[in-house]
Amino acid sequence: MKFYDINNPSHKVSSHEAVIKSISGTSGLYMPEFIPVLPDSFYTTLPDLSLQEIALEVSKAMLGDDVPYNELQQIVDDALNFPIPLKQLGENLFVLELFHGPTLAFKDVGARFMAGLFQHLLKNENKEVVIMVATSGDTGSAVANAFYNKKGIKVVILYPSGKVSELQEKQLTTMGGNITALEVNGDFDDCQRLVKLAFADKKLNSQLNLTSANSINFARLFPQSFFYFHALAQLGKVNKPVVMSVPSGNLGNLTAGLMAKKMGLPVHQFIAATNRNRIVPDYLKSGEYKPQQTVHTISNAMDVGNPSNFPRLLEICQKRHDVIVSQIKSYSFDDGQNRSAMTELQNLYSYQADPHGAIAYLGLKEYGLSDDYYSIFLETAHPAKFPDEVEKATNNPVSIPETLSELVNLTTKSVTISTNYQELSEQLTKMVR
Ligand SMILES: *Cc1c(COP(=O)(O)O)cnc(C)c1O
Repeated sequence: MKFYDINNPSHKVSSHEAVIKSISGTSGLYMPEFIPVLPDSFYTTLPDLSLQEIALEVSKAMLGDDVPYNELQQIVDDALNFPIPLKQLGENLFVLELFHGPTLAFKDVGARFMAGLFQHLLKNENKEVVIMVATSGDTGSAVANAFYNKKGIKVVILYPSGKVSELQEKQLTTMGGNITALEVNGDFDDCQRLVKLAFADKKLNSQLNLTSANSINFARLFPQSFFYFHALAQLGKVNKPVVMSVPSGNLGNLTAGLMAKKMGLPVHQFIAATNRNRIVPDYLKSGEYKPQQTVHTISNAMDVGNPSNFPRLLEICQKRHDVIVSQIKSYSFDDGQNRSAMTELQNLYSYQADPHGAIAYLGLKEYGLSDDYYSIFLETAHPAKFPDEVEKATNNPVSIPETLSELVNLTTKSVTISTNYQELSEQLTKMVR
């Protein structure tokens, strides 16, 4: 598969280059030259396939012969070693639980697949790669966990000071080894901007092989399509339309869902559910893309004011506003509505959701729950990552998995920097030595 630069479509690169470099020299995102449609035979057997079997077929279709089949199988089996169950809450209401990975958020899926692919691609290269990642809460820990102690790789995490949950911060700052955490005195969009400045810094790039593990990297984003197939597989015989609601921030997850649909997955309607960072619903209404100052909310992993995958969304929809409007519906909710939704899920379905999944549930409700179709919301993080809000809203204790309770006693280690690029550049330059 060849990849093109969205900023300059005639510029094409190999999948190897697209993955290792993350973005083009013009800071453009890469997209596959075409999105392969899977054969009917795949869809007829879908309910019988395991998550790993699905991932293998889907990634083989996307990557072609770029990665040998047996290696791809190894990557998939290593990455997806946890369940992603679809649970039934009501007659036609389901939740897809994406938080059973090692860092308890859906980011594990993309980060683990990407780590495996990187190991494969760098196998015969004697160079060190520095992976930079801006995190609104969950990406950093998923990437740190996936790349921990991997040969030839250093990870630098930038996270916004005071804007991630206590446990999220613990997850980011207690790994050590090849993982460095930088606490930025700013918001997530400042972190993303700093990472972009580092990529554009020619001098720095001549010293370091920089790359990204944010969903701007196709290898991080694309594996997130697997679980959409897996959700429909678990529904079994799909005899009604399917509506899926995605709690959205940087739009990586939603883009992966739309790609799955392009590959032939019969999803009738996608919903981009957002918190008060309402760039997508505003765009759908006005046709104008207006990045905004990030608003801090209790669903902090979705606090994004300038979602970096928006250009990919446009690309999938032929850059046409009317196509996007037909492909997605989008609604925004505030923290009060979010808390009420967590309460309602507990009271109506005895389901304890986290503040991200609750936004997705609200998206389904706003669209309208109906017996005429199946409604699925994505639960992207374990409620134990946000114990205070969840316990207050559900009036129920959250059970804390061991991986989290162990963290509390570990020592955190991070370096604080301002939003001034100079400080980041100094930190990175130190790594050369
Ligand atoms: C990252 C994240 C999101 C948002 O996903 P995007 O791909 O950035 O839109 C939603 N929920 C949780 C828990 C996350 O960590």
